[in-house]
Amino acid sequence: MLLAITVNISRVVIVGAGQAGAQAVFSLRQWGFEGSVTLVGEEAVLPYERPPLSKDFLKGALDESLLFFKTADWYQAHTVELLLDVVAAGIDRERKAVVLGDGRELFYDALILATGSRPRPLPLAGADLPGVFELRSLADTKRLREALQPGRRAVIVGAGYIGLEVAAASRALGVEVMVLEAMNRVLARVAGPVVSEFFEYEHRAHGVELRMGARLEALEGDGALSAVQLEGGERLSADLAVIGIGILPNQELAAQCGLDCEDGVVVDRDARSSDPCVFAIGDCAKRPLIHFGRSGRLESVHNAIEQGKLAAAAILGRVRPAEDVPWFWSNQYDLKLQIAGLSLGHDRIVVRGNPANRRFAAFYLREGALLAVDAVGSPMEFMGARQLIARGAHPDPDALADPNIAMKQILDAAIEPHSS
Ligand code: FAD
Repeated sequence: MLLAITVNISRVVIVGAGQAGAQAVFSLRQWGFEGSVTLVGEEAVLPYERPPLSKDFLKGALDESLLFFKTADWYQAHTVELLLDVVAAGIDRERKAVVLGDGRELFYDALILATGSRPRPLPLAGADLPGVFELRSLADTKRLREALQPGRRAVIVGAGYIGLEVAAASRALGVEVMVLEAMNRVLARVAGPVVSEFFEYEHRAHGVELRMGARLEALEGDGALSAVQLEGGERLSADLAVIGIGILPNQELAAQCGLDCEDGVVVDRDARSSDPCVFAIGDCAKRPLIHFGRSGRLESVHNAIEQGKLAAAAILGRVRPAEDVPWFWSNQYDLKLQIAGLSLGHDRIVVRGNPANRRFAAFYLREGALLAVDAVGSPMEFMGARQLIARGAHPDPDALADPNIAMKQILDAAIEPHSS
């Protein structure tokens, strides 16, 4: 049955030319698809990777040319039609057509939605003043970098990964930085207290002022931002503000044409939406998380790449590629944080190593099963945890806490509990 669907596919249209959309293109061609591939992207530039936008590229330590996955020649040589600076405005599922902003139509046999996400807007007066920035695209980063001049005062709203990475890059550029976080610790939504405390210490040690439990009331300025006002009335002067309070999935195209959406376009393990001819991948998709027995939306490079491959494989009728445990990373100053799994629902945190040495791992467990790890400067712990989570293992917490017991030994014991 699957073959009957896939052999008729000669036109694939992909909306969204980011990490996930580009991967779908690469996999389709790598696996021998000879039909037409059209990639529609509203940004005017070739597909590029976003992680450096809040890290080395923001600091000016990475050349722009290194952000792009492939050159224009590659797309031409692989007969990929690139429609850049073009918005997909609607989908007519009955006629299997994508309607572009200029009224043109692209007909498809299979459609992949890879529309990503957008920064959650700050619903406050003054949020649209010049000097208030968000960070999603290459263009956003270039604008922000212009503003990050030595000695200027930046207020960063939100102490998630993006906010903290921007704080670190801004300090490297000699900018005065204050981070405002509404919750009582940094990374509160994604990491345990030990990880939050560690990053709070590091940022303060690098001269960042952190304000927890701080809620913004307004952004002020006459023609451009000059201050922010907190609930309670306190005013803080600021030359610029960066808003990093999370993202929203770009699911409107899917919702408008009647596809199931629920904090993301709902898809199955093959990245297929409620319409068998339409797939959704990357930040905009809500997918089954097979290692966790639930579904959810992931915001990571690994997820975008994996789902790009899943959709391409399903379209071509190939065996479904293996689904890995989700993973992510963050670089701040000279620190590398690697995250595997999803810690939501943990009932215990086990710490291995000493944060004071800037090398440690926090393992998150639920009823003995390992759910996730946050590993700072600890690649072996990260890699070992990925395998343990993938196997649904119940590792010995005392062994996890003991840095003298190698991760390999813990892995062996967890996989073959009865071997000596
Ligand atoms: P995107 O890469 O956002 O691409 C979506 C594209 O679709 C965009 O170009 C958008 O303009 C386009 N689009 C949307 N709607 C339309 C339309 N109607 N018509 C045409 N085009 C449209 N992940 C990590 O794992 N590690 C990191 O360290 C990390 N750092 C990050 C730093 C920053 C600053 C950002 C923004 C993200 C970071 N991420 C990181 C997340 C990661 O980059 C994303 O999860 C990934 O890019 C998602 O890929 P995507 O293709 O789903 O979305």
